[in-house]
Amino acid sequence: MNDVMTTRGPISPTELGVTDYHEHLYVEPPAWLHKIDPDFALDSVEKSAEELKTFAAAGGRTLVEMTAVDFGRNVEKIKAVADAVPQVHVILTAGYNRPYYMGRWGYAVAESDMIRDTVRDLTVGIDGTSIKAGVIKCGTEYNNFGEIGRKLVRVAAAAHKETGRPIITHTTAGTMGYEQAAYLIELGVPAHLIALSHMDRNPDVGEHQRIAQLGTYLGYDCFGKAKYGPESRRLSLIREMIQSGLGHRVLMGNDLGRPSYWRAYGGGPGLDYVLTSLRQRMREEGFTEGELNMLFIESPRRFFARET
Ligand SMILES: [Zn+2]
Repeated sequence: MNDVMTTRGPISPTELGVTDYHEHLYVEPPAWLHKIDPDFALDSVEKSAEELKTFAAAGGRTLVEMTAVDFGRNVEKIKAVADAVPQVHVILTAGYNRPYYMGRWGYAVAESDMIRDTVRDLTVGIDGTSIKAGVIKCGTEYNNFGEIGRKLVRVAAAAHKETGRPIITHTTAGTMGYEQAAYLIELGVPAHLIALSHMDRNPDVGEHQRIAQLGTYLGYDCFGKAKYGPESRRLSLIREMIQSGLGHRVLMGNDLGRPSYWRAYGGGPGLDYVLTSLRQRMREEGFTEGELNMLFIESPRRFFARET
């Protein structure tokens, strides 16, 4: 069985338990981004540890920290947060988030250097430490799969081929998901080692089925964010995916990468929301324990174990 790399080193996929496939625990966003949107700075180890403890208390055992280098990843701080909550495994990401955050850097840096750095994060360690990433990120912009987006996808595919680690992408508002998956597959990445984030921003069940039929995972992570549509619509989407026999290709997360989403900063819904309120509502609305186990435990385990 393939191992899973965490901040504390490799573990067996059987140890993952209840998993949130896309989160942020500590973010120091680039200065230009902070100036136009200060609601991205998750920069207190104490508050992050406090928030992560609520996830642990709700039964959460693994969390994927999807902050890439261009969005302000800080490996030492994430390690400190993870070490404060020993019940939870934290998986770090290598690779790059999206062209918008890369700015001019996306054009200036050679693709070969980006591949080298991504592989180093996965095999040697991040930023001079021996702490390794366990997933690879890449991303594209809204309805746009342009030059830099394609470059980030190629970097992720090349790093995957050298390391075997799975890929979790960023989609902007759930667009370009099929295109990302198709390009990664064309570049030789097995479909079952690809997961597309934020796909419930665009809850188009037919499109999701078309992607899942490739064998690729769809990440749903907009729960508790009414600004992205009502919860009922996300729950019907999951129900329809299960009814069409593709529920095993859905991964659950919450992507709470803003202090206004965290109770530790006086916001909401909070890092335990999916495991407490949402899971309770799913039970009340007829999701079985078997379906909940599939969504929260079995599918992320299969993805990280690199099983088809
Ligand atoms: Zn995110």
